[in-house]
Amino acid sequence: MTIDLHQLALHAIDAAAEELALPDRVRAALHQPERSLAVQVPYQADDGATRVVPGFRVAHSTARGPAKGGTRFHPEVTAEEVNGLATLMSVKTAVVDLPLGGGKGGITVDPKQLSEAELESLTRSYTRAIAGSIGPEVDVPAPDVNTGQRHMDWIADEYARITGRHQPGVVTGKSIAAGGSLGRDTATATGCRTVVHAGARRLGLPADARVVIQGFGNAGAHLARMLAEDGLRVVGVSDSRGGVHDPAGLDIAAVAAAKAEHGSVTASDAEVVDPGQLLALECDILVPAALEGAIDVAEAEKVRATLIAEAANGPVTSEADAILAERGVTVVPDVLASAGGVIVSCFEWQQNQREERWSARHVAERLEERMCRSLDDLWAVATSRGLDLRSAAMVLGVGRIAAAIEARHADLAAGELAS
Ligand code: NAD
Repeated sequence: MTIDLHQLALHAIDAAAEELALPDRVRAALHQPERSLAVQVPYQADDGATRVVPGFRVAHSTARGPAKGGTRFHPEVTAEEVNGLATLMSVKTAVVDLPLGGGKGGITVDPKQLSEAELESLTRSYTRAIAGSIGPEVDVPAPDVNTGQRHMDWIADEYARITGRHQPGVVTGKSIAAGGSLGRDTATATGCRTVVHAGARRLGLPADARVVIQGFGNAGAHLARMLAEDGLRVVGVSDSRGGVHDPAGLDIAAVAAAKAEHGSVTASDAEVVDPGQLLALECDILVPAALEGAIDVAEAEKVRATLIAEAANGPVTSEADAILAERGVTVVPDVLASAGGVIVSCFEWQQNQREERWSARHVAERLEERMCRSLDDLWAVATSRGLDLRSAAMVLGVGRIAAAIEARHADLAAGELAS
């Protein structure tokens, strides 16, 4: 990753701390992770050799509950990046008011070069290396870039072998058979759908508003289908190979079928556009659902939408953000617009801890209710403090974490007053 996520996170926290006039003691607590682990991860390669790669697990804050956050396998993973992502997870769980803190993990490895057996050996070895720092009431990993259900099932199984106890709540994003939650696979898209509808209502957009979605993976493809079903016109979608466009609204089922059969949305019958053109298409709502930093200054100048819902993590750079604000584009930030996944992860953890199984409808209703409440909270902070939604989200999240730190460190605060 080229942007320094950790520095960006600290900068955003400082701005929120300033707005909230937080004491230095609390700012210092927010600047530093509670626990940071760097480990060696040896794994058995198919050629019989043992290879060793670096791994990390960071619990940034447990002030509001056990740390929560994904685990990424990527050749560019660094301690700094994991630290930054863990910090942002603390804010994300607080913005949507979950009883959880923030964490993140990663292994510096290119998983595309590994066989299934090597991946399993690596994931189990990583679990053994971090087992003393995770647990259902301590720190709960989840999937992230290049990890999914099978990795989470391996972590749950390895942890049960180490501890001798069945504790599926040690990790979320598991398969249903291993204790996963119904609705987890579509959670991010479902949460973003609520954001799109609520945002469109607030901005007075028409019921058949035009939507462009960048990225047609787990988040983007489900969202495109849902919004088309809701009567919105999805006029453009893209993947890493390019985009397709139809001003009357794309046939999303046909686009998904083309992607499944030929590996790209560009194989469908619709007009093909290059990725640069996609972001400049005439539309009301733009959903970046692909990569970090996808909208930079040049793209921000071209955007025609009045509403952006960030389904991806960090898709708009800080410079682009300033341009969009100047141009009057409303941006619902990632900490809320992409929070559906972590909300249903929390539901999965709660089901595991209580030995319950919730119906898909129950999960969907609770997710919708949580997203709507969080949006109302966010808009109220933005309005009362005269802030844009991204700054308001930081104020909301940091304020909640700070309140928990203050409550728990009351003895220290009292000492400060007495001295
Ligand atoms: P994914 O790998 O399933 O899909 C990513 C999509 O983006 C693919 O269709 C890929 O072709 C496309 N893409 C890559 N480069 C592109 C480019 N230059 N232009 C256009 N499209 C491009 O990933 P995902 O799970 O859908 O995640 C997407 C984003 O959403 C990430 O930022 C992720 O962190 C965030 N997110 C996902 C979840 C989740 O539950 N899946 C939760 C929170 C946040």
